[in-house]
Amino acid sequence: MYVRLSGRALINIHTANAEGAIGNYISLSKMFVVRRLPNGGLDYFEEPVISGNMLKHWHAVETVNILKSMNYGKICEYCRRYVMYRSPLKYNDEFDYIKNCAIEDLHGFLSTETNIRRESVVRFSFMVPVEDLKSKYMAITHNRVGVTKEGKIDESLMMVFKREHATGLYGFSISLDLAYVGKSQSDPSKALDIDERKLRAKAALQALANLLTGSFGASRVRAEPIIKITELVCVASKKPVPNLTHGFYKDYIEDSKSRIESLRSIGFTGESVRVYVIGDRVTQAFGELGIRCDNVIELVGKLMGDVEKWFT
Ligand SMILES: [Zn+2]
Repeated sequence: MYVRLSGRALINIHTANAEGAIGNYISLSKMFVVRRLPNGGLDYFEEPVISGNMLKHWHAVETVNILKSMNYGKICEYCRRYVMYRSPLKYNDEFDYIKNCAIEDLHGFLSTETNIRRESVVRFSFMVPVEDLKSKYMAITHNRVGVTKEGKIDESLMMVFKREHATGLYGFSISLDLAYVGKSQSDPSKALDIDERKLRAKAALQALANLLTGSFGASRVRAEPIIKITELVCVASKKPVPNLTHGFYKDYIEDSKSRIESLRSIGFTGESVRVYVIGDRVTQAFGELGIRCDNVIELVGKLMGDVEKWFT
């Protein structure tokens, strides 16, 4: 089963990705995007972006939390502690890593000692302010206050620092090749049993709902993203399918719809491809082609149902 998502979210006052401090000033990660202009030309714009790397990290964290809550034991010592950047396991076969850690299975790994690697089955693009609306950002001053044993403010402990925060309508795109969950990529004849594969695939989908409702980003203690998903197009397919058009583009709904219609014309029928939609504009555009969901949790629930039906 293959899942492709593309959509848009209003995100107010986030500071999800920062670039370290210059003195007491912490700036957001920024990158240039190219926008199509009303006159037909193109131009570059600097925008605060949310990296796919960061989204991937928080998706892994949420997956660990969900699996732990089910008392699922096959999570390695590092992933259990949310250290996702390398594997402590030192096996000589990709499948041994898969067997022993659900995160190595879902999020991939490269062992620098044994040279064994696995591609991630979950992939995230950057979240970027959309083509039709520039974002805005500015710095907010924070104050750290220290007190003495007597309860007096200790001026030597006070530290004023400034941190940039951004607000905008962000586009995103996510792919999950769930067909590979619990299955070796280098030798697909090696696979976990079907129930364990379904359990891991469902945990990965459930984590997506947590991520898309704001469980991501730096400085979450003070600035958890104020997020609302406004639009979402999702395709679930038994067979591999191309990505949808990224939510950044102003015509991503029409473009995604035309890709899905073309898929149908080359044999991807209703039984093997389902389209789920959120938001009035998307629902209207897709008509009978899309199954409407009221929110991302409902949508993820439908995808979990597809795992149950489609996983082989
Ligand atoms: Zn692990």
